[in-house]
Amino acid sequence: MKLAGWMAMVLISSAVGFARADAPARQRPAALTSVTIQDAFWSPKRDLWRQTTITDCLNKFEKDGALTNFDLVRDGKEAGIHHGAPWFDGLVYEMITGASGFLVTNPDPQLEARLDGYIDRIAAAAARDPDGYLNTYTTAKEPTHRWGANGGNDLFQHDLYNAGCMVEAGVHYYRATGKTKLLATGVRMANYMCDVMGPAPKKNLIPGHAISELSFFELYQLLAAEPALKAKLGGDLDETRFLKLAQFWIDARGHHEGRKDFNAYDQDHVPVAEQQTIEGHAVRATLLASAITAIGRDGGRPDYLPIADRWWTDMATKRTYLTGGVGASAEAENFGPDYFLPNDGYAETCAAVARAFFDQQMLQCTGNAAAADELERALYNGALSGVSAAGTSYFYENPLKADPKRNRWDWHGCPCCPPMFLKLMSAMPGYIYSTDDHGLFVNLFVGSTVKAKIGQTDVTLTQTSGYPWSGDVMMKVDVKQPATMRLRVRIPEWCRPAVADALYRSDREPALDAFTLAVNGQAANYTVERGYAVVDRTWQGGDVVSVKIDVSPRRILAHPMVAEDRGKMALAAGPLVYCLESTDQGNPVGQSPAAQSFDQTTLSTDGPLGTEMRADLLGGVRVITGQAARKDGDNAAKSFNFTAIPFFATANRGPRSMAVWVPVATENRPG
Ligand SMILES: [Zn+2]
Repeated sequence: MKLAGWMAMVLISSAVGFARADAPARQRPAALTSVTIQDAFWSPKRDLWRQTTITDCLNKFEKDGALTNFDLVRDGKEAGIHHGAPWFDGLVYEMITGASGFLVTNPDPQLEARLDGYIDRIAAAAARDPDGYLNTYTTAKEPTHRWGANGGNDLFQHDLYNAGCMVEAGVHYYRATGKTKLLATGVRMANYMCDVMGPAPKKNLIPGHAISELSFFELYQLLAAEPALKAKLGGDLDETRFLKLAQFWIDARGHHEGRKDFNAYDQDHVPVAEQQTIEGHAVRATLLASAITAIGRDGGRPDYLPIADRWWTDMATKRTYLTGGVGASAEAENFGPDYFLPNDGYAETCAAVARAFFDQQMLQCTGNAAAADELERALYNGALSGVSAAGTSYFYENPLKADPKRNRWDWHGCPCCPPMFLKLMSAMPGYIYSTDDHGLFVNLFVGSTVKAKIGQTDVTLTQTSGYPWSGDVMMKVDVKQPATMRLRVRIPEWCRPAVADALYRSDREPALDAFTLAVNGQAANYTVERGYAVVDRTWQGGDVVSVKIDVSPRRILAHPMVAEDRGKMALAAGPLVYCLESTDQGNPVGQSPAAQSFDQTTLSTDGPLGTEMRADLLGGVRVITGQAARKDGDNAAKSFNFTAIPFFATANRGPRSMAVWVPVATENRPG
């Protein structure tokens, strides 16, 4: 075989270890305002979520009384009355944060007017308290246990969580609209919290559910970057208080003087510096980890970075489903032990979202493509599966196998997942690109335009692609004057040689031409650094970079320590994990599709895998086809042609059995 030099370079130097925050090569994420998405895969979905899902969720929250709770407090009529769970205030704020991200990229006066109406009601409720305190549940049901203190329990009351969500929503709504009413309400509450809690003699109170750590840090960053804003928020503000309280909440984990011990469930069993593995409630753990990484990087606490390293490496190499889902155990919505990944596990949508936030923080911290690989894994699979194709029904759990009765829900008693989903998907345009002093990183392959400033040079990059269905990606670089700049394009994980001890790997090493890159039609010289192809050259306006990524179907094997997946195989193509749904498999042994289980199905470890773009199926998906066999009781196995669909598209045709991991035929099981 003729081996071009640049191909050899990919082969030799593309091995990349796991991301490590203490070996940083930092990135700065592109501002949401600088990115426009035009993409055949993402744009229709984003339009649906923006126009249908947001409205659907707001209607359902209103119906549940989540907004009425604020009116009751405003009017002093709340005693003993509260609609929904204690964290409903927080979920309303989360909806505002999610909607804000979409308002940045797609202004929508009608949606904005609706949210302004909500914010008026929220601010009026907060105005009733002389200190600006607001948690409708605690005021109604636990009036003597504010913050969960004095014998209350913030683990249930969610005072600090709700406040954190309010601050976050205030920051994001301000960034989207320039309006400060919700931000001012959040700042007043945040200042009150800084008065009450912190190192002795203040109260030792920590969030029963992490999120305030990151949102207070975001508030600090906003006010530090825009000091003029402080005048609009009531003048003499000291933003460093918010940073210090965020740090306190991290440092006070494991120190239980004067309060309840929230245990590993809330990452509170020992100080975080002593926590060797990522533990407890998966959403709380990954949100806390996101804050630890962000403050470790930009909040003056580099001592946090080894913690971020340990937790991220444990999560990515031992505790992540193939789909990017985390939190295998339903019992306490928690991470189980290493390699505990039962296929009927929990994998809450919120956890896939929050781990993507953690991945994004690690990517910005390390500049290592391995973090972007994990972000992409969650984005296209375990998070994307959380909302139906119609945009109005949802999943809380995203297991990798389903019995025939499993179906999506229209709404839930704890509807936390839809707002978290919207937060991720509205933030996603800001994850595609990042910059450093030397150039531009392309982290995700999404049709889009980014305007960036590298040094003194204005650069516009326009990406077009058929990803994830096709691996052809074009990037047009526009600069007014010839400019020297590094363009770094992520080489996806399945195009690089597998890392030792990887949790998942293809059953064969990638082909030499799994990833190719050309500039203006000529194979380009590039080096490989931390999983990125680095093209360092003087760019002329109109230069075109063509990338080809192998998205042909591949067979995936799990690390042998994952007991549940031993002797099984999964299918993937590009970033998409695939699954078998009973509807698509015909009826080889006379079972009705509803009764089919995939425990008796076997896949062969060789033989061709085909693909086909099916415009008629599930809104247009590319399926994987091949040969499988199924036994029925003692009968001999009968072979049939299987059709696998992307995991994210599961459960859109009513209740169906489904499996990602399928046993391998014993006669050709890999040794
Ligand atoms: Zn959730």
